[in-house]
This record gives sequence, structure tokens and C-alpha cells, in this order.
Amino acid sequence: MTPDIVIIGSGIGGATIASALAGSGARITILERGEHLTATPESRDARAIFVNGHYRPKEMWREGDGTEFNPGNYYYVGGNSKFYGAVLLRYRKEDFAALEHFGGVSPAWPFPYEELEPWYSKAEQLFRVRGQLGEDPTEPFHSQPYPFAPVPDEAPIARARAELKALGLHPASLPLGIDIDAWLKDGRTPWDAFPNTGAGKVDAESGPLALALADPDIELVTGAHVDTLEASPDGKSIAAVTYTRNGEARRLSPKLVILAAGAINSAAILMRSAPGRGLANSSDQVGRNFMSHNSSAMLAIHPFRRNDSVYQKTLMLNDYYLTGGKGGKPLGNVQLLGKINGDILKANAPAFAPKLALDFMAGHAVDWYMMCEDLPDPESRIMVDGKGIIIQWQRSNMETLSGLEAVMKENFRAAGYPIVLSRPFDKRTPSHQCGTVRMGNDPATSPLDVFCRSHDHRNLFVVDGGFLPTSAAVNPALTIAAQALRVADHIRRGELA
Ligand SMILES: Cc1cc2nc3c(=O)[nH]c(=O)nc-3n(C[C@H](O)[C@H](O)[C@H](O)COP(=O)(O)OP(=O)(O)OC[C@H]3O[C@@H](n4cnc5c(N)ncnc54)[C@H](O)[C@@H]3O)c2cc1C
Repeated sequence: MTPDIVIIGSGIGGATIASALAGSGARITILERGEHLTATPESRDARAIFVNGHYRPKEMWREGDGTEFNPGNYYYVGGNSKFYGAVLLRYRKEDFAALEHFGGVSPAWPFPYEELEPWYSKAEQLFRVRGQLGEDPTEPFHSQPYPFAPVPDEAPIARARAELKALGLHPASLPLGIDIDAWLKDGRTPWDAFPNTGAGKVDAESGPLALALADPDIELVTGAHVDTLEASPDGKSIAAVTYTRNGEARRLSPKLVILAAGAINSAAILMRSAPGRGLANSSDQVGRNFMSHNSSAMLAIHPFRRNDSVYQKTLMLNDYYLTGGKGGKPLGNVQLLGKINGDILKANAPAFAPKLALDFMAGHAVDWYMMCEDLPDPESRIMVDGKGIIIQWQRSNMETLSGLEAVMKENFRAAGYPIVLSRPFDKRTPSHQCGTVRMGNDPATSPLDVFCRSHDHRNLFVVDGGFLPTSAAVNPALTIAAQALRVADHIRRGELA
């Protein structure tokens, strides 16, 4: 039977919108290219994950100069969220207005923070977020408290919190979608970049998808690789979705199509669907404005003090989020990484680096993540070459990252860590990909309207990281989920009313 709605992708955007359309009476098919992840010895093995790339896809992408790489972009039910750090943090209120950075202006969103606020609260309930209001100086208004108390700091992290406070800073609990007891029951490891094969992490599959699939009108089809969307003869709507499953070409012609294959793959599907300019692209912005944060890892090392944390990832610092750079410009967010060990360092170190030394460093370091805003640039592009994907990522605003690194190195040294090392994250893992199918009021400059509907095709929505007009300097998943809930409400009041 032909479904009313086809959702392409079961990650944060696709699963969240499916959960919010459940119970509407609409027959919904979710086409997901991946399969379910199951528990195996590799799922809690840092070497298998970080050194052997066990979960990476068997595909190669290319950079603008032709260099091939194997991307850290994950194709499973639940998408990239199966591996995510489960930080579920709101954009700050100021991120919705134009904000001047070193590298240029971060443009205003087409609506203010207040428009998304109720949906952020609903998304926090949906993802069962653990957090604490009132600690962070940049915290925007919350109409509801977090549904659960924060994940506790381990002893070395409680000490780091006190050290930062003693410097006059405002460390705050990271809002997290983690049931720490359930996570640790399956293995004493961090969760950041580890796959969730149980109930410990609230990801797209264990959270919203599970709710959606309780509705008998919603079905999930795995191993369904969407190839193209076909426009109707008058070009005003999408007439069909074509996909391949078990080597067989198939097609569906639903009333509504919700594309949620992730910022890179959604842009690629649209580009492949109409060779030349691409589909839904009268603005010529599909595939442009690709952003993925400027970020680095920073190890604050105390050679005489072991960090025996298991998970570590419970703190953030936003003292430099809005100001702190030269001339009072914004710098970014600082948050803990999942605890790093010698294997993880080995995966990123030169081959000659001795493993014993790396084990020692990792065992004595508190590991931080510096995250700064990447600004939209039409020349920062996703392109396709047949079935291949080309990422021509134009880095922007890098002065902000070096500014944040400099000030945090000073802080960590002042807090008593004599050795502080940093290293930028590389391009092969576009974890925070966004911006490639952005929303806006003007069809001439944005492919989507403010409800993520294509300006060109009335029955096409794109609800994944692609719609984000700016990257801000916080992790994207909660904002994608909040907007997915807002779009679902719009569809229920319109098409499904
Ligand atoms: C290691 C890691 C850590 C991260 N940590 C955090 C964090 O702590 N907090 C945070 O906010 N964000 C984090 N992120 C980013 C977060 O996971 C993404 O922002 C989020 O998953 C994006 O949601 P999405 O709906 O855009 O895409 P995804 O969740 O990636 O979903 C896209 C889905 O589409 C499917 N798909 C792709 N192509 C096709 C096709 N052709 N046909 C059918 N299906 C297709 C994919 O298999 C996938 O299931 C992290 C990411 C990684 C990789």
C-alpha cells in the first residue's frame, strides 16, 4: 500500500519527526539505508572503534582537491546519533540574531529563540535529558526544567570543576541524554563515539524511533538506499522516491516526502535527482554553506595526578561563548570529551609515537573539546560525481578557535596543569555537518521556508542538520530535534488536519 508520508533517514531529524507524527492516522514509511546495530565485542572496544574504524562505512568521499578519505559518517538505524556524545544543548538566544565574529557575521535566523523555545523543552523531555539549570551564564530562558538531575561528575572531574570555579569561571553540568547506570552495566567505557547497542544512550533509535514504531501505521524499512526524488511533470511537487533494496530498484509515490538523510547526504540526494542544478534548488543554495564547527581536542596533563575517570564527559564552560576574544568578540564552547585512552591517542598520533608514552599521557590528562562557530559560505560545498560525494569545505573563522585555545591553555596552566596540548579535529569526521539546505524567508537565498518546506516543491520537507542557517558553537542534535517537532506540528495542522 502506498504510504501517505515517506521519511528518508532514521537519525535525529527523521526519527523525531516520525515520533511527533505518530497517532495522526497518516501511514508512514521510514526508508533507512542502514541496519540495526547489535552488541558485539567491538561495541565497547576502543581499539576496534578508533584504530580499526570498525563501524565506518565502506565508502570513500573526496575533498575538493581530489584527496579520497573514508568518512566518519555512520549509516545505521538511528544514524550518527548512535555514536554521539549525547550532549543535548540549546543554541543560545544570541545565536538566533546576527552576531559579529572575527571571521565575519553569523547571520540571523528567520525567527528568534522564543519561537523554538517550547519545542526545545519538548525535545528535552523526548530525549530524557539530564541537566541542571542556573549554572551557565549564557543559558537562555527555559520554560521547563530538565526532566532528570545531571549525570554525576567523577572524582577527578569534580576536582576540575572546583579548579575552574576557583579561577572565577562558571563550569556547568553538560545536558546529556544518558542513563549512566544502564550505560555502565553493559561495559565500563565512555559513550562519546561508542555505539549505543542498549538502553544507556537516548539516541534517535532508543528515543523517538521506539515511540514512533509503537504506532502500527508507521513502518521502518532498513537496507533501503534512497537514490533520487522525482519531480512531477509541472515541477511543483515530488512525484516519487526511488530507492534500492536487496539490489532491486523500487519506487514510492507518497503525498509528502520528508528528507532527513543528514546534511551531506540530503544535499547529495537532491543534487543527484536533477543532474546539473539539482532538485529544489531554484535558490542555487543546495549543497552550499556547508559547516561543521571548528574544533580541537585539548589535553590538560598533570604528570603526578592520574585521571581515573571512566566517562569524564559531564562539564562545559561557556564563559567565552559570547565574549572573550579580542574586541569582545565571541569565542566558543568548551566541554569535556569522553575519557581518552592510549588507543584513542594512538589512532591520531604519528606512527612512531610509543604506546607506553601515549598511555601515560592519557592516564594523566583531563580531555577537553573546544568548539567554535563555522560561518556559512556559499563556496563551502557538497557536490556529487555520480554516486560519489565531494566535500569542498572552506574553513572560516579559524582565529576564533586559536583565541579559545590560547585563553583555555592559560586557564589550565593557572589551574595547575603544567602540560597543555591541543590538536584540531580533522575533516574526515564531519560530526556536526549542517547548513547545506538552509531555511529562510527568501526563496532566492534559501531552499527551505521556516517550516523546512521546499520553496520549490510543496510536498517536500528537509528536516535534518541541512536546514540549520548557522552552526552556532554548540552541538546540533537538540536544535534539529526541536525544529523537527515544530515542523511535525505544522504538518499536523496543515496537510493532516
Ligand atoms: C562521534 C559523534 C559524536 C557526536 N556527538 C554529538 C553530541 O554530543 N551532541 C550533538 O548534538 N551532536 C553530536 N553529534 C552529531 C549528531 O549525531 C548529528 O548532529 C545528528 O545525528 C544529525 O541528525 P540528522 O538527522 O541530520 O542526521 P543523522 O542522525 O546522521 O541521520 C541521517 C540518517 O539518514 C540515513 N541515510 C543517509 N543516506 C541515506 C539514503 N540515501 N537513503 C536512506 N537513508 C539514508 C543514515 O543512515 C542516517 O540514519 C555527534 C556525531 C558523531 C559522529
